[in-house]
Amino acid sequence: MSVADDKTVVREYFNSTGFDRWRRIYGDGEVNKVQLDIRNGHQQTIDRVLNWLKADDNLSGLSICDAGCGVGSLSIPLAEAGAIVTASDISEKMVSEARERATATLGDRASNVKFSTQDLEALEGRYHTVICLDVLIHYPDDKMADMIAHLASLAESRLILSFAPKTFALTILKKIGEFFPGPSKTTRAYQHREADIVKIFENNGFSIARQEMTSTRFYFSRLLEAVRR
Ligand code: SAM
Repeated sequence: MSVADDKTVVREYFNSTGFDRWRRIYGDGEVNKVQLDIRNGHQQTIDRVLNWLKADDNLSGLSICDAGCGVGSLSIPLAEAGAIVTASDISEKMVSEARERATATLGDRASNVKFSTQDLEALEGRYHTVICLDVLIHYPDDKMADMIAHLASLAESRLILSFAPKTFALTILKKIGEFFPGPSKTTRAYQHREADIVKIFENNGFSIARQEMTSTRFYFSRLLEAVRR
């Protein structure tokens, strides 16, 4: 399947059943046990990124691109902390939910974040930090290098990515059924080898600075911070 077809499927999913499912997972209402586990795991990833950035003590005014922002789970707390956030997602439904959440929670800090509907590979501009969380699961290995190279070209200093590591194959395959119901469910979520990602970072002039791993029963996400050499 071509990249364009892959993206059309992802966009349609996150504008329909995927939107309903992920808006609930990334919310605080009632969900089933599996969804609650994924919610808690994802929140750990968000908190880890926030802890890193807050520990650097330079968040106020820092320019950040949140590529594939979903419903704003990271963009909103970053804007709250004073960062200047450019957030985008391929799904207009996710973006409009993110905008609503930002307006409802940020008060006069709402102007710190701008949301738009965009394919991350079409993004332009330069940002101190580019962040892309839990999006690589939609990219097969052969599309990953171009995608990361593009994000790297937008990042002046730092790139933070998370992905589902290949080591947890079996558990992830079970979880994939939850992501993409239907006949193609096992072909639509991709895990990646960390060594491949580190190599792509290196080829683009970045090296790993910090790393974390979040594992719950149904959520596995390896988090890497790479800084420009
Ligand atoms: N990063 C967010 C977070 O951690 O809360 C959302 C993660 S969610 C599992 C994956 C998101 O990636 C979805 O909102 C989806 O629409 C978006 N996405 C997938 N492919 C994309 C692409 N090529 N460009 C922009 N967004 C994309």
